[in-house]
Amino acid sequence: MIHLTGTVLHAGGEATDAWIDGGIITYREPRGGSRARTIRGFAMPGLVDVHCHIGLGSDIVVDRDEALAQASDVLATGVTLVRDLGVPADMTWIDSEPNTPHIIHCGTHIARPKRYLRGVSRDIDPAELPDVVVEEAERGNGWVKLVGDWIERSKGSDADLEPLWPRDILIDAVQAAHEAGAKVAVHTFATETIDDLLDAGVDDIEHGTGMTLDHMQDAAARGILVTPTANQVASFADIANQAGAKYPVYASRMKRMYENRFDHMAAMADAGISLLMGSDSGSTLAHGTFPSELQACVEAGIPASTVIAAASWEGRRRLGFPALEEGTIADVVVYSADPRSDMGVVSSPLAVIRAGELVSEATD
Ligand SMILES: [Zn+2]
Repeated sequence: MIHLTGTVLHAGGEATDAWIDGGIITYREPRGGSRARTIRGFAMPGLVDVHCHIGLGSDIVVDRDEALAQASDVLATGVTLVRDLGVPADMTWIDSEPNTPHIIHCGTHIARPKRYLRGVSRDIDPAELPDVVVEEAERGNGWVKLVGDWIERSKGSDADLEPLWPRDILIDAVQAAHEAGAKVAVHTFATETIDDLLDAGVDDIEHGTGMTLDHMQDAAARGILVTPTANQVASFADIANQAGAKYPVYASRMKRMYENRFDHMAAMADAGISLLMGSDSGSTLAHGTFPSELQACVEAGIPASTVIAAASWEGRRRLGFPALEEGTIADVVVYSADPRSDMGVVSSPLAVIRAGELVSEATD
């Protein structure tokens, strides 16, 4: 049994003490509570990284040992819940492994040939989208992942970001996913894609760098979630440099979005969008970087209280998971101070508890 003392933040408020017994949290001292192992600090619901590809690395699909190493690196940062948002392999074997976060699988990214990172996506003809969305929904845990736009290289030096899916097909596909009980998350960088995504009623916009202020207000009003991925957007300068000479139109757009990124992310929060936090670990970005993602979002101008809530209790609630309410699963991260007033603590949790098991504890 574990006794948390200090501050225990939960969806319903705050407590000074909580006990973890049999994987469950309670705020009423159980029999034998005085003999529990005590952890003192600022405890809150374990972090949720909604965009973290466990099983994906620079060589695309990694072997099991590397996937387990990725998972344990992620868990050690306080992330007890991950939505994988697309891996081109069946990763469900990892669900029975210890020392991993709980993973919401999302099937494989759905794209068109030559319109995403090579080898990562399931590439289809647009007309197949409604059927394929349902197939991927059956492989996942309630979410599917679409690539909404990507560079159209066939246009040579005029190449730019372009939407992948005709509007009517997108609308049908989102409806098909919803009827199959799945929500839809969409990768998008381009402005031209967003109207169709909003009208189709997608559930979650990933990156969203092309959203205008009107789009942001519309997304907020419709309750569409947005994941800003600050670390990924920080890499747009490198993407622009690499594309530079060959694809100048695309490169200048990526550079513009890079330069405007702080104002853009702050505007998302100002618009009142329900944000989620995602590291985008797994293709170009390393695993275990979620704390730096949260710090980058705060540096961009999203209030720390918004970032921490989205990374913890609000994010869990938005994905349909409990957040330390009495009698619910004990996924907990403990810090030395409240990260909303001291963001520095997010990079060094004192303890991480996954389903009641103490999986890491700082030693000093
Ligand atoms: Zn991603």
